[in-house]
Amino acid sequence: MHVDIVPVGDVPPAVKREASSGLRAVYDCNVTIHNVQEIPEGSYDSSRGQYRAEEFIELAGRIGDGDKNIAITPKDLFYRRRNYVFGLAYLDGNGSVISTYRLQTSSDGGIASKPASEVFSDRVRKEVVHEIGHTLGLEHCDNNRCVMNFSPTVREVDTKEQNLCGSCSRLVH
Ligand SMILES: [Zn+2]
Ligand SMILES: [Zn+2]
Repeated sequence: MHVDIVPVGDVPPAVKREASSGLRAVYDCNVTIHNVQEIPEGSYDSSRGQYRAEEFIELAGRIGDGDKNIAITPKDLFYRRRNYVFGLAYLDGNGSVISTYRLQTSSDGGIASKPASEVFSDRVRKEVVHEIGHTLGLEHCDNNRCVMNFSPTVREVDTKEQNLCGSCSRLVH
């Protein structure tokens, strides 16, 4: 499998690096980094001060060279009635997106022993692995250690691991 990472807006090199290594580690795939894209025109909702996630997914799927493609953006994303999303993908689709915007907030998840930069890196890895999992047909998993567990807050992101649980893993390998 080939995954193309599509940076949308100003994405630091460290974020691209973490995303690549997270994907390689879990899916044993080839990862490439696409050239930087502009924020999709019309994706901004001025009444919310946020960006529509769907338009980033559409961009990644259209412009990406991979079997699966994931946009990474520093912009704050929302989807339908949800106040914000860390990421979004359609089941079995070829495009997906994560936003680093809310992954930088400090957590109350009891991981104060880790430096903030490491906590942030872990979150980036987990989110890209999670969204690519959806594009491979994985739904949310009840196992709260599994990377496919639904995690609406950073606290829950911090609780889960970077890997697929046994049953999710069997579905994609
Ligand atoms: Zn999900
Ligand atoms: Zn699982």
